[in-house]
Amino acid sequence: MTAAPPPARFTLFLDFDGTISAGETFVKVLKTFTPDLAAELIPRIHAFDVTLREGVTRMLESIPSSQWEAAYTCADDVPLREGIAELVAWAKRNDIPLIVVSGGLEAMVRRKLGPLVHDITAVYAIQIDATGPFLKVVSPFADEQEMVAKVDVMAEHPADVRVAVGDSTTDVRMAQVAELVFARDRLCQQLDERGVAWLPWDDFNDIRVALAARWGLDA
Ligand SMILES: [Mg+2]
Repeated sequence: MTAAPPPARFTLFLDFDGTISAGETFVKVLKTFTPDLAAELIPRIHAFDVTLREGVTRMLESIPSSQWEAAYTCADDVPLREGIAELVAWAKRNDIPLIVVSGGLEAMVRRKLGPLVHDITAVYAIQIDATGPFLKVVSPFADEQEMVAKVDVMAEHPADVRVAVGDSTTDVRMAQVAELVFARDRLCQQLDERGVAWLPWDDFNDIRVALAARWGLDA
């Protein structure tokens, strides 16, 4: 009699902006507090003409530190997408690590998540030093392309099945290395262009139900 194989380990990696948040929050900061640079650089980032790292650093570091509090609170009215609280509770109940990995502002992500943050395994995003005249970006997971290299964050949390959930440009590399991808909005076409398979989703109830069925767990 052979021993049963060890159960597969699952981990969820969720983007924040446009994924957990039902609207853009970080882009709102950029368009509100550095509108000229945002108008120039955001389209170039989406066209992969300017790296996220360069574009985001230039935009954020043009914002005076006196506007920091107004900046990270400016998306307080943007709702979170349906089903996130249920997904977080389900992941916790099933001992499935749930990691939020965002190229946005950690202060804003934590503020938006509110009490949910206590049941989330880890949050990775851009930290800000607002002690000088202008914001200074602090990002331990920056690489030459991104302020928060989501693939490097994923490497910190090894698992047999890594699930990536995202919506846009900043999730392309994460999706390329994940074993399972849930995509919406711009990310769908970007993955089609790269031959990466993905599953559609509308809200987090879809994802919870799909994963529970796939992995033989209660939803
Ligand atoms: Mg996003």
